[in-house]
Amino acid sequence: MAHPYFELRDVDRRFWEERLESYLPPRLFDAHRHVWLAEHLGPSWPGRKRTDWASEVAGPESLQHAALGYSLLFPGREVCYLAFGAPHRECRLEENNAYLSRGLEGTSSAALALTDPQWSAERVAEALRAPRIIGIKPYQDLLPNFTGEDVSVFDFCPHEHLDVLNERGAWLTLHLPRRERLAAPENITEVREIRRRYPRVILVIAHVGRSYAGRYAREGLPALAEDEGIFFDTSALLNPAVYALAMDRIGPQRLLFGSDFPILYMRGRRCWEGDRYINLTSGDYSWNVNREPPEVEATYTLFIYEALAACVDMARCLGYGEAELEAMLHGNARCLVDRVLAAKESW
Ligand SMILES: [Zn+2]
Repeated sequence: MAHPYFELRDVDRRFWEERLESYLPPRLFDAHRHVWLAEHLGPSWPGRKRTDWASEVAGPESLQHAALGYSLLFPGREVCYLAFGAPHRECRLEENNAYLSRGLEGTSSAALALTDPQWSAERVAEALRAPRIIGIKPYQDLLPNFTGEDVSVFDFCPHEHLDVLNERGAWLTLHLPRRERLAAPENITEVREIRRRYPRVILVIAHVGRSYAGRYAREGLPALAEDEGIFFDTSALLNPAVYALAMDRIGPQRLLFGSDFPILYMRGRRCWEGDRYINLTSGDYSWNVNREPPEVEATYTLFIYEALAACVDMARCLGYGEAELEAMLHGNARCLVDRVLAAKESW
């Protein structure tokens, strides 16, 4: 069986051996990845792909392909994960959630339910009763008529839903809205409000608050650093400076490795210009017009390897070792997931 979105090349095997193999713990926990099948998506609309670079990179991937991906990328490692469905408005949420719930029964992995902001509290409670579902992943794109403007967290993650999570001690992976991401004072205020009003929720801020560039983390992290009940996943982060900031300000005990597969199967490199990132890739995508010479592109490895290497390198630079890497790449998430799974017995 071949994987639908990548093939391992010599350049990848070398990168794995030189930069990753001896630093990664024997077990990994991927706390942020997406899994959906083509049939979980309803019809799209013309121009939809052009508005979203990621949907050209990768799409549907079965749980079997997800498992294959891990075994190819991380030979000899045991990988568990926390999965959620397609973060797209076309997604048939309940079917996607049900696929993950069913598919993960009997495994040590778990899933979050995608939620429609218009769902009643009872419907969220119902979603949480499904096997292996330990919380929710609300998303601004699931707001009806959302066209990319700044919205409040509570617009797509309403208080009624948070009440349901809080009663159960369930998990929330939160994608911060607003153009200024983690640096937006309104987001900081709302995250603090969630912590104050819903203290039993396991709160994980996705992508370190979408801090793909350094300024967001530099400006936003200090305000949330003191609260030990806020966790951050590092999914889709490739920026070494952001790993350094997160480890320094937040510490390795509150960081959870996440891949953001299937997007991070992309082959290439990321660079930064101010607050913007530029994806350099050898992939055949309509938006891929910033090409480097073929001999440079031939050295590209996969984004996931670049992300993990940034994490490992920065941890070592800051004087951290095996224990902290184990915590970030496995132990922190494993421990939190197990805590919610134990609570789930009474849901
Ligand atoms: Zn994601």
